[in-house]
Amino acid sequence: MKEDIFYHPDDKIRFTLRESRGRLTDTYRHKGMRRKMVEVIRRKGIRDARVLAAMEQLPRHFYLDKAFEEWAYADKPFSIGSGQTISQPYTVAYQTALLDVKPGDKVLEVGTGSGYQAGILSLLGAKVYTIERHKSLYKKALALNNEIGLANIRFYFGDGFEGLPNHAPFDKILVTAGAREVPKTLLEQLKVGGVMVIPVGKDIQTMLRITRKGDTEYKTERFDNFRFVPFLKGTEEQ
Ligand code: SAH
Repeated sequence: MKEDIFYHPDDKIRFTLRESRGRLTDTYRHKGMRRKMVEVIRRKGIRDARVLAAMEQLPRHFYLDKAFEEWAYADKPFSIGSGQTISQPYTVAYQTALLDVKPGDKVLEVGTGSGYQAGILSLLGAKVYTIERHKSLYKKALALNNEIGLANIRFYFGDGFEGLPNHAPFDKILVTAGAREVPKTLLEQLKVGGVMVIPVGKDIQTMLRITRKGDTEYKTERFDNFRFVPFLKGTEEQ
């Protein structure tokens, strides 16, 4: 078994990538494509060096089926099954930069999907709690992360509208599906001083950053428009 050593963008945390059964390989070609992808994102306006470093480190092609590897480093969303998508790299960078993750932050991600965004949060030093409503995606993301070996990610199968009351409050909450409105339950699971990034709207969503200023006081900032798969209630067995 070959092992690659990766370094956290802060250079303090180290993780190892297990190349078990040779399925997960990260070649120089992949690394080169990844560098170009990050350059594209940077030119589109993302300047957060830690976020860009994390995206340069994490092999996005691990999160797509092998047959679609060629697509992994285009700045495009891609199908991951169950009618869902892995978000466009620019969108991942945009949301992560707005969230301003600090090492040690307890972060709830709603919409695990492929698990890629959770991986980026882990590389930024967050304690990640990620929840997914499709059982098949939840299982796949969990198994994949066991192979990749990223630390501090806990996977949950459930309805993100409920959040994770047993683990609340969170420093940060990141919603990666398009919501019709901001779920009150999630607002209540934010720490005072905590931040939630959530795309809100029907066909097109506006990125909102909501900061909890006090027990009942919240500040909302509006950013650019995006198009996400919908934030849906309940769970699905596949
Ligand atoms: N963050 C993902 C992108 C996922 S797309 C990634 O990095 O790949 C959005 C995901 O949100 C989909 O997988 C969808 O099934 C999930 N989702 C939608 N509504 C949800 C809900 N109520 N609770 C949990 N997950 C939800």
